[in-house]
Amino acid sequence: MIRRLIARFWPGRSSGDPVVVRADEHPVRRDQVSYGARTVTRRLQDAGFKAFVVGGAVRDLLLGLEPKDFDIATNATPEQVKPLFRRAYVIGRRFRLVHVHVGNEVIEVSTFRAPQKADEATDEHGRLLTDNVYGTQAEDAARRDFTINALYFDPATEEVWDYVGGVADVRARRLRLIGPPTTRFREDPVRMLRAVRLAAKVGVTIDKRTAAPIPKLAPLMANVPPARLFDEMQKLLLSGHATETLKSLRAHGLSHGLLPLLDMILEQPMGQKFIDVALAHTDRRVREEMGVSPAFLFATLLWHEVLANWNAAKAKGGKPLPALFDAMDRVLEQQAERIAIPRRFEATIKEIWSLQPRFEQRAGVRPNRLLEHPRFRAAYDFLAIRGESGEVPGSLVDWWTRFQDVSPDERAAMLKPDEAPKKRRRSRGRGRRAAEAGDAPPPDADAPTGR
Ligand code: ATP
Ligand code: MG
Repeated sequence: MIRRLIARFWPGRSSGDPVVVRADEHPVRRDQVSYGARTVTRRLQDAGFKAFVVGGAVRDLLLGLEPKDFDIATNATPEQVKPLFRRAYVIGRRFRLVHVHVGNEVIEVSTFRAPQKADEATDEHGRLLTDNVYGTQAEDAARRDFTINALYFDPATEEVWDYVGGVADVRARRLRLIGPPTTRFREDPVRMLRAVRLAAKVGVTIDKRTAAPIPKLAPLMANVPPARLFDEMQKLLLSGHATETLKSLRAHGLSHGLLPLLDMILEQPMGQKFIDVALAHTDRRVREEMGVSPAFLFATLLWHEVLANWNAAKAKGGKPLPALFDAMDRVLEQQAERIAIPRRFEATIKEIWSLQPRFEQRAGVRPNRLLEHPRFRAAYDFLAIRGESGEVPGSLVDWWTRFQDVSPDERAAMLKPDEAPKKRRRSRGRGRRAAEAGDAPPPDADAPTGR
């Protein structure tokens, strides 16, 4: 009882013994844990080690959600874990963990870790630079971020071990940092982002004391390495709750400095509308498990900045296409200073952008050639978002929707000058030629490609 009270009022300051919540006191059953995770915990326990499912999976199960993956925490070192499994690989240089392959599953097994002491290895803002020391299970719980992320489930006994008052917080649907919020956010400012992301994702409320210091500490995000920010942003945006999360980020004063360009975009009504439509589109796809490409998403987030740069360059007399390519490069470069968008995404982002002007060309051979472009589908989805946000006429999107669906004959008919939409047409005689050529365009001339 006393221990429960301590855990309840001083999260993260328990005496070192867990509150063990028995199977009949919570709803999680062992068959909700994946086969791989059950196999790994059983084998570790049979070899005499402690082994639990930990972190996000336990949280999700207790909240009635389906976990994305299962992580295991154990007192066995990586060297002790590895020989117990046929396909186990020690990974990571800074903190070593083991990836155990069971069937198609990869189970991450990490050894209990101790929290860093405040006086060692922090930068001048209090940010932890290493966290590399093995520790007890109680220490492992205390070094985690939120109480609901620090629960351990033993599939063998179906017990939940709680060192930090996490079970009470699950019941209250409350997200609470373990330990003093200001210190914990200073140690790792990404926790501020995680708070907002997890609250939206699992449907819990950020505890007042946890939320209070965020606006003041938000500038610390500037010290987080860009690659790490990209990972968190990607998780955040692909969570299926991007719209809500972004709104919450802004409300907590976290969006500024994080996506510097995005702040500017959201200040213009057109930009705001575009982002709203894009995020709603992404959330829908994630929830319907349709797969979302991060490149597509980042292309949408930055598009209005590209447009602004592009229009400015054209107004100064720049030729449209070179001006577009310059604008794309400039925007990606600026963004890279805060969030390192990986190079492999950049190529796709640029392709999606650079194909946009080609949708304006509805005469001649160009529409058929665009249709065959490997990125047509992504570029067309992007055009649809532009249409929905009011940036391009809905009739242009409708035309392309129909054009890709109909037979080659009908396609040729759509290209006829008198059936082409009233908007500017740049057929210059090519329309007729292509209409006659049907779906066999000559191999010559075509405007920009992804390069
Ligand atoms: P998701 O379901 O979105 O993956 P998660 O909580 O599992 O959420 P992970 O990044 O997979 O997030 O982290 C696994 C666990 O590691 C967390 O549940 C938490 O216990 C711990 N953790 C992750 N990031 C931090 C952090 N920045 N500080 C302290 N502990 C962390
Ligand atoms: Mg996880």
